[in-house]
Amino acid sequence: LSTDADVAQRESESISRKTLRANAQKFEFQAEVSRLMDILINSLYSNKDIFLRELISNASDALDKIRFMALTDKNVLGEGDNTRLDIKIKLDKENKILSIRDRGIGMTKEDLIKNLGTIAKSGTSAFLEQMQKGGDLNLIGQLGVGFYSVYLVADHVEVISKNNDDKQYIWESKADGAFAVSEDTENEPLGRGTEIRLHLKDEASEYLDETKLKDLVKKYSEFINFPIYLWASKE
Ligand code: ADP
Ligand code: MG
Repeated sequence: LSTDADVAQRESESISRKTLRANAQKFEFQAEVSRLMDILINSLYSNKDIFLRELISNASDALDKIRFMALTDKNVLGEGDNTRLDIKIKLDKENKILSIRDRGIGMTKEDLIKNLGTIAKSGTSAFLEQMQKGGDLNLIGQLGVGFYSVYLVADHVEVISKNNDDKQYIWESKADGAFAVSEDTENEPLGRGTEIRLHLKDEASEYLDETKLKDLVKKYSEFINFPIYLWASKE
């Protein structure tokens, strides 16, 4: 028998966890990806705001993909909330977590492993070269490695994802060369899509500020064709 208090306790433990899930399958990042993450997590770059642009752009791409598939088979959209093609950003001030959730195409287990770590894109080395020349980090999205910009502001990132062709999985990494993937049995079912949880670094707590986020979302959503909602917990 578990009481509501037990459930709330367990949820808050899982939400604020500081170690990777012990029973998960572990993977090493492709070497250049690992190097890239190392640079990002230690970066003193001042324009860290760009991580939000990259996350919104990935959410929008994922929504475009499912919408495109739905043109020929509208069953892929499912029913109820799953049919709402939107993006939600949530600020959890107590646990210092910024999360962004889309109802896009989602990633299978294999997608998570390939797209977020083991397959280097040609842009990875190009970006590393740019960095060595003192180039602008702002190019990260154009070089196809925008996702990793989350490590400008977070030291632990979880990606929960559900694609129509697979179960719900959770990917996580603390940018220490490895990531972990396991079936997600602890979070609420997403239905379909992806939720990215950023455990913010202490020096990035400004991103829990509603006014700041609202301004950033406004700035980066100008050319996004899906509604974006912002939720903030009351401290
Ligand atoms: P790009 O967007 O240029 O391909 P990123 O580094 O931003 O590069 O993202 C890497 C890949 O991870 C994407 O190509 C996509 O396959 C996957 N991905 C990232 N975010 C999401 C998301 N929200 N939903 C589905 N797939 C995603
Ligand atoms: Mg991208």
